[in-house]
Amino acid sequence: MTEFKSKMMYKELVDLYEALTSTTKRLEKTAILAEFLKNTEAEILPIVTLLSLGKVFPIWSEKEIGIGLKLLMKAISLVVGVSVDTVEEYVRDKGDIGFAAEALFENRLQSTLFKRPLTIVKVYQNMTRMAEISGKNAQTKKIRVLIELLTSASPAEAKYISRTVVEELRVGIGEGTIKDAVSEAFNVDKEVVERALMLTNDPGLVAEVSKGEGEEGLKKLTLKPGKPVKPMLAQLSHGIGASVEEMGTAICETKYDGFRVQIHKKNDEIKIFTRRLDNIKDAVPEIVEYIEKCLPHEDFIVEGEIIATKDGNPISFQYILQRVRRKYEIERLRNEVPLIMYLFDVLYYKEPLIDLPFGERRVILQKIVKVEPSKFELSNQVIVTPENVEDAEKLFESSIKAGHEGIMIKDPFAPYMPGIRGKKMLKFKAEPETLDLVVVGGTYGRGRRANLIGSYLMAAQDEEGNLKTIAHTATGLDDATLLELSSKVESLMTEKKGRKVKARPEIILEIAYSEIVKSPEYESGYSLRFPVVKRIRDDKSIEDIDTVHRIESIFNA
Ligand code: AMP
Repeated sequence: MTEFKSKMMYKELVDLYEALTSTTKRLEKTAILAEFLKNTEAEILPIVTLLSLGKVFPIWSEKEIGIGLKLLMKAISLVVGVSVDTVEEYVRDKGDIGFAAEALFENRLQSTLFKRPLTIVKVYQNMTRMAEISGKNAQTKKIRVLIELLTSASPAEAKYISRTVVEELRVGIGEGTIKDAVSEAFNVDKEVVERALMLTNDPGLVAEVSKGEGEEGLKKLTLKPGKPVKPMLAQLSHGIGASVEEMGTAICETKYDGFRVQIHKKNDEIKIFTRRLDNIKDAVPEIVEYIEKCLPHEDFIVEGEIIATKDGNPISFQYILQRVRRKYEIERLRNEVPLIMYLFDVLYYKEPLIDLPFGERRVILQKIVKVEPSKFELSNQVIVTPENVEDAEKLFESSIKAGHEGIMIKDPFAPYMPGIRGKKMLKFKAEPETLDLVVVGGTYGRGRRANLIGSYLMAAQDEEGNLKTIAHTATGLDDATLLELSSKVESLMTEKKGRKVKARPEIILEIAYSEIVKSPEYESGYSLRFPVVKRIRDDKSIEDIDTVHRIESIFNA
């Protein structure tokens, strides 16, 4: 384990958390955080940056603390000297494990005479130790390490240790605030910070480099095979003709309705990252086999879409998710639902390629991939200008006929822009637009359905990442999916009053609707008419949900 000299107290970080909670204004939060980062010793700056986001490891790290709510409640009960039932009662009453821990620690009976004040390093090291424990009796060993922390914790410290363990800090800091705060603290350009964040997905590293080497250092940060990059995103095209006209020359490709992956090879290790930056390599063994067979031996990062098929035709990408969820059934699913990989971009091959124009990246991709028909292919494409725009329309028609979603319209001269939803990549779909919204609560049914959450309260995000409710939705799910969704929401429940519950915002649903209307009833100021759940979007993360701003512009259009 790394040795640290820092003696900075955890209490100082807790005071920061409290200060951040005391305001809802993003500018104020940014100023508070910037001041704190500025005064943090360089050695622990990466740790403090991650902890201020409520994280111990970067998002792509496969390390996990591995302590669920139940085990945490047990640890608290042991330290405070009350029953687990009492802890549960507090959680129900306070609606949050952090508040519950704080209140319990305030009423704590047991002696705290031999308390050793906690340093930030100590908290971080114990969290890391918990993540490293596996195998036999792991739970018991983990809980011991946690108890060591909690025994020395003040009520406020217990509150934030608990929340960090279950990864829900609730101080309202997201990547956006980190970006602004780092920029303010170390006097580096916001856009440079943003790009470094999108490339590395490592806020700790970005803060460290900003402090130590400034903008020059940040600009030298680049992508590395093995560490996922935020994917470049697409805007909606309102018509093939107009979009091609605007771009001048466009590369149009079939839009496959599957699972977007970023494939990394470093030395001999292959990782397959989803949009949420989870490595799903073990769920798709045949793709791994083809990667080994069809791609070169040198290090690379390529991107593409995996689709599920039945009798050679595309079917819902939920079948891929099934594999990710049910790890043990992979062999059976592999035969029942064959997968096809369509590669569409290369970000790294021997060296970073993201600054090359897309057209050139595509040429490199074609050179390095040995195509395996109906297994491991390149996306289908045509190059069009306003003169032969009908070729793009033909591609659209043939793509739809083949069961795909529509087409992508890409600027051949554009670099790869990590994490950016810009005008250089557009999507044109056959189906009406849907919204990706997050479940923030729900209502239990009545009678026979009394133990099932039947209606879900959905939210979009505002510019600052705050969630704003927009609709209740009840329809569109088959019984099995409804059951699954209901129990998922139960496991994320933070509050229950009568039939109504609140839930931690983690489940993203794709919602179709007939119309957006103004409504004072919901926090967003809008509501949806006839909202229907199309599917659960396990592949998307909370940052991907739609914004109130977008809803407003659809409404205005
Ligand atoms: P959406 O998820 O609706 O925002 O559409 C963008 C997504 O389309 C990307 O994130 C990819 O997962 C997917 N996609 C399918 N085919 C392609 C393609 N040929 N090029 C780029 N993205 C594609």
